[in-house]
Amino acid sequence: MHVEEATPLIGEPEPLWCPHCQASTLWSATIYAFTSQGSHIIGGWAVCEGCGWSPYGWQQRWVTCQT
Ligand SMILES: [Zn+2]
Repeated sequence: MHVEEATPLIGEPEPLWCPHCQASTLWSATIYAFTSQGSHIIGGWAVCEGCGWSPYGWQQRWVTCQT
């Protein structure tokens, strides 16, 4: 993936339900990129503050959109 002159920005985090902690400790946010052509969503980020689990995988706590 190649983004020119992009400034990444993480959106407002939202708490989601973590099935491991049985609590709303899974923080999720949208990742945006600002370029000369405007802003667009490039991916998402989520990780539980309680157990460190991520719906995107143990080793990958964020995901990029496949365009
Ligand atoms: Zn958890």
